Amino acid sequence: MIKTKKYGALIVVSGPSGCGKDTVCNALVEQNSNYWISISCTSRIPREEEVDGIHYYFLTKEAFEDKIERNELLEYAEYNGNYYGTPRDIIEEKRSQGMNVILVIEVQGALKIKELIPDAIFIFLVPPSMDILKKRLENRGTETKEKVLARFKTAYQEINEMPKYNYVVVNDEVENAVAKIKSILTAEMCRVDRIEEVDLSTTEEVLHESLMKD
Ligand code: 5GP
Repeated sequence: MIKTKKYGALIVVSGPSGCGKDTVCNALVEQNSNYWISISCTSRIPREEEVDGIHYYFLTKEAFEDKIERNELLEYAEYNGNYYGTPRDIIEEKRSQGMNVILVIEVQGALKIKELIPDAIFIFLVPPSMDILKKRLENRGTETKEKVLARFKTAYQEINEMPKYNYVVVNDEVENAVAKIKSILTAEMCRVDRIEEVDLSTTEEVLHESLMKD
């Protein structure tokens, strides 16, 4: 009776660096084959374990700026001195195939998406406490103290933007956070604005007639 839109949803996940966005979203995608995480472009230097084309498309600053010029990015932002941006075309392609697309991006980019695509679903992930966030950032051991400090400062600024999101999820345990996001998505898929068609081919008159016959 109800036909919902085939076009996939756009889910934006933000949260301070070190809060576990990637871990949570990867776990979500592993459990649901109709979700796809967008691969961003960045001018940041790859970390030791990072692979080009899997974690990011690693570009020079100049190559990134060329992409901006050619309007190939849906959104982009400068974050801690590096560019980060979402490739435009693949997002539309995946959504039109019915895939739900997840963007794991920082706040400035998320707010640009909110202007462009207001029916996207905005989820803000937070650590259980700022102390835990500090420990997670230090334990990563991938960056200098100054860089950790800069990320921590940015974290406070980002948390101030949380009210602009639709949902907040505390990442205490990855499985709990994944379960909460799944529930959010289940509810979002039932929104009336996702209805494409309501089939009322059995009219009130037909129903009335058949009831009177019995
Ligand atoms: P990291 O350097 O830790 O990989 O990422 C730094 C921040 O940039 C994270 O908050 C991450 O979610 C965000 N980010 C990654 N890709 C994009 C993107 O395409 N656009 C924007 N605006 N932010 C991104």
